[in-house]
Amino acid sequence: MPLHDISTRITKAEAAAGRVAGSVKLIAVSKVQPNDRILDVLAQGHRCFGENRVQEAAGKWPGFMETYPDVDLHLIGPLQTNKARQATELFSAIHSVDRPKLAKTLARLAQEVGACPDLFIQVNTGEEAQKAGIKPSEADTFIAECRALDLPVVGLMCIPPVDEEAALHFALLAKIAARNGLEGLSMGMSDDFEKAIALGATHVRVGSAIFGERVRPEE
Ligand SMILES: *Cc1c(COP(=O)(O)O)cnc(C)c1O
Repeated sequence: MPLHDISTRITKAEAAAGRVAGSVKLIAVSKVQPNDRILDVLAQGHRCFGENRVQEAAGKWPGFMETYPDVDLHLIGPLQTNKARQATELFSAIHSVDRPKLAKTLARLAQEVGACPDLFIQVNTGEEAQKAGIKPSEADTFIAECRALDLPVVGLMCIPPVDEEAALHFALLAKIAARNGLEGLSMGMSDDFEKAIALGATHVRVGSAIFGERVRPEE
């Protein structure tokens, strides 16, 4: 679907939910997409992109950024502590802060570098064993821990279980964010971003609906 159509759907969803136009940021998820598709979206003027692997992003984005220095790159996939330095250099936001060890590493890097990407804490709202994220019951404590480390926590992120009603997970994430005074909500993908906007998403992560099906498997 053309980028323009996705933007129109976002604008309509914002209006339908009584939200301010432009309050939802579209992260175009470009993982494993061929370069020509990414360049096409860049040429249309879009600048906010999401990648789920540090290595893959580090391989392609510095090149694109030579031509498009105003790209706003978001890490939406798991982050190993040994890649944290590279991630803080490349990304303007990290959506996958999910454990104390990573928070401590990011805090140390922030001290050292004097800057830190915007951070979202990933919550495993479905409490799935195979999925990253802090458990909902441990979220308040972890958010407080991150704040005590002076980390710039701007919001929460979730990836609902594939076989469950996403709206329940979006609502849970919004509730945890509200009681912790967090404004950012990174939720909603190609199949459910309008639903996420209705429930307060500030960042939607849309991949295949913009770029087409991913040509390589992710794993
Ligand atoms: C791949 C991915 C997306 C985008 O998924 P689509 O269904 O292609 O829109 C969003 N969020 C995360 C964390 C992803 O890994």
